Amino acid sequence: MNGPEIRVEFDPGLHLFVPQTRRAGATPVATDGVSTLGHVVESLGVPLTEVGALVVDGREVPPAHVPAAGESVAVRAVERPQEVPGAPLRFLLDVHLGTLARRLRLLGVDTAYESTDIGDPALAARSAAEQRVMLSRDRGLLRRRELWAGAFVYSTRPDDQLRDVLDRFAPELRPWTRCTACNGLLRQATKEEVADQLKGGTQRSYDVFAQCRQCGRAYWKGAHHEQLEAIVERALTEFPARG
Ligand SMILES: [Zn+2]
Repeated sequence: MNGPEIRVEFDPGLHLFVPQTRRAGATPVATDGVSTLGHVVESLGVPLTEVGALVVDGREVPPAHVPAAGESVAVRAVERPQEVPGAPLRFLLDVHLGTLARRLRLLGVDTAYESTDIGDPALAARSAAEQRVMLSRDRGLLRRRELWAGAFVYSTRPDDQLRDVLDRFAPELRPWTRCTACNGLLRQATKEEVADQLKGGTQRSYDVFAQCRQCGRAYWKGAHHEQLEAIVERALTEFPARG
């Protein structure tokens, strides 16, 4: 490209997406005179899902803005908490985020998850059809235009991934209301109703049960409960319900 030259500066929160040479402040970018600013930013490596305001010479512009020679552009990170207008907040996670999916469900957040790799086009189509925010660490997937909405998951550690998503979208937390296996809603169940899923010890030791309305799986305060309780307590403490 040897069209109009502009200067672009990225918010520090976006530095992981751009080469080292573009992290120290504003750097020159040669544009082609027809591409939009959104396209220019994306071609520099930053998914638009992670971009907040685009500010040109102190004035906010839409991603469709076509940069002119000499403009100075500040690319801000998306604001937190991020509003996702138009539908109840729900998520779709790609095949690599299984632990995060189960933790979000544990907290009662509506979370669809594909445990097999159905491919980017199918994921993007499902995000659009069900109006779900696509969560992924795959920048190529987040670039797909069909997505209802998307967000990059910044960490590879499930603890940090959960904190990242709760901090960014501030979903309403309703722990112990969803099936961690299938995302279905739970209902209270009697011991008799779930008896066929219980081993002898469980049968004798517990009296409070829940069952998934969708897949029928039984839940009780069993072996892994302390670990799950700790995840729930931490989330409720760090992200108390908003006013
Ligand atoms: Zn279920």
